[in-house]
Amino acid sequence: MAKTEEKARETFTNFTPYEMKKGEEYMSPEMLKHFRQLLLNWRQELMEEVDRTMHHMQEDAANYADPSDRASQEEEFSLELRTRDRERKLIKKIDQTIDRIDKDDYGFCDQCGIEIGTRRLEARPTATLCIDCKTLAEIRERQTGI
Ligand SMILES: [Zn+2]
Repeated sequence: MAKTEEKARETFTNFTPYEMKKGEEYMSPEMLKHFRQLLLNWRQELMEEVDRTMHHMQEDAANYADPSDRASQEEEFSLELRTRDRERKLIKKIDQTIDRIDKDDYGFCDQCGIEIGTRRLEARPTATLCIDCKTLAEIRERQTGI
């Protein structure tokens, strides 16, 4: 029976945390390389998940005679499609982030310009806002519902 609980991973944990060397500058070439690799590995993992979901749906696409079986299969498929959609969006975001790394425009808050920070970026490598601006944006979002 198919697993329906698989969700797109919003974070990637399979990496060694970056240790800054003494006197090393924030977002040094080494550091950028670290995040680039991290994003590439994460992307790879997501691509494999998308593949798995697709295979899975093809294998399961049998015709059930029983209408209740069909209904549950449809439900399961729409769940998997949503998961795939989330994974695709995340892959797109990862691509955009890698692009920013290549342009040496990574690791600083889009809003206020301060360093987002290594640990925050490792927890959320696609982050474009510092924690303060992010928190503020979330409060505004809740208030205006935009
Ligand atoms: Zn900020």
